Amino acid sequence: MISEKMVGLVKNSSVIRAMFEEGKKMAAEFGRENVYDFSLGNPSVEPPEEVKEAILEVARDPDQNHVHGYMSNAGHEEVRKAIADNINKRFGTAFDASNIVMTVGAAGGMNVIFKTLLNPGDEVITFCPYFGEYKNYVSNFDAKLVEIPANTADFQPKVDELAKAITQKTKVVIINSPNNPTGVVYSRATLEKIASILESRQKELGTSIYIVSDEPYRELAYDGVEVPYIPTIYRNTIVGYSFSKSLSLPGDRIGYLVIPSQIDGYADIFAAAGVATRILGFVNAPSVAQLVVSKCLNATVDVSVYNKNRELLYSKLTEFGYECIRPEGAFYLFVKALEPDDKAFVARAKQHHLLIVPGSTFGCAGYVRIAYCVDHDMIERSLPAFKKLAEEYN
Ligand code: PLP
Repeated sequence: MISEKMVGLVKNSSVIRAMFEEGKKMAAEFGRENVYDFSLGNPSVEPPEEVKEAILEVARDPDQNHVHGYMSNAGHEEVRKAIADNINKRFGTAFDASNIVMTVGAAGGMNVIFKTLLNPGDEVITFCPYFGEYKNYVSNFDAKLVEIPANTADFQPKVDELAKAITQKTKVVIINSPNNPTGVVYSRATLEKIASILESRQKELGTSIYIVSDEPYRELAYDGVEVPYIPTIYRNTIVGYSFSKSLSLPGDRIGYLVIPSQIDGYADIFAAAGVATRILGFVNAPSVAQLVVSKCLNATVDVSVYNKNRELLYSKLTEFGYECIRPEGAFYLFVKALEPDDKAFVARAKQHHLLIVPGSTFGCAGYVRIAYCVDHDMIERSLPAFKKLAEEYN
């Protein structure tokens, strides 16, 4: 009864979600404390106190029709203004409310901007490894995802392959830094190289190529590493931001798009993004969540908790003989599987009650993703299992 397209999508439905469900089943069978679930990027750190206070403030707002009513499809004007001011202060930009569209998380934002930009057959370039859902988001609009293979030396993108991957049909290049699944932060030098390639290819082809910068992990960066703001590096950049990880609000579904006035076709794109928000059925991003986050723009979760997890897991896994680059952001380790088939390795890990995700889900076979947005205690309890698993391959 379901559509032909959905048949395929259901069949390939998220491996990560399946693993999460499997974890719940295993916990019921073996006891929660004996299952080490590193499968899902669900924040373990509580939202900051400011969020609770903001929720109460919004609940007590005397104008409850404003709090709960319909609004412009782009979102509350005062929220968009507050976000623009905040970005300007942080990155020296000059945005205002007319550059911000409130979205239903980063996922909603990407679907809105893809609906806005993509014709069937258009090409969207992504660097491997990448968040597997991009394939679905691009296919929603009958466009084609073009993968640039991974640079497994340091997981910075393979910039040298970008120029030849760009064709007359290339409309978007997705950048995701800090990156899911590697935790790598793309350096300023890398981003400048990407910008210069895009500028010259746009000129040669007479087209507009947009970077869509997917930034749910912007605030999760360690050791003071710089996460460059791409609109200040490349003119045709649209940013998709989310509060899912920065404030630990993934269930509240709130984020925004930044559509700078400097991009080609700004006025049409901004207007169309509002319409896309409406006709995709979002109508507008959740009103209460918009008002809450606008009061918490200088707050973030306690990133030191993730940092502590990163330090422990990275140091122990490398001590046990696993190969892995040291992540500088997000909350993932991307580790070389101890056999060529990452899915077989994941199955072997499961026998030790370790739930991890195959790299092939992210367009990079031979690796696995370990999400360390989990209780520190669980990491400590899991270490003997990681050690045993490594010993099996000696
Ligand atoms: N983009 C990346 C790279 C992600 O890892 C995720 C979620 O994990 C999303 C987008 C979707 O985030 P949101 O919950 O804000 O829709």
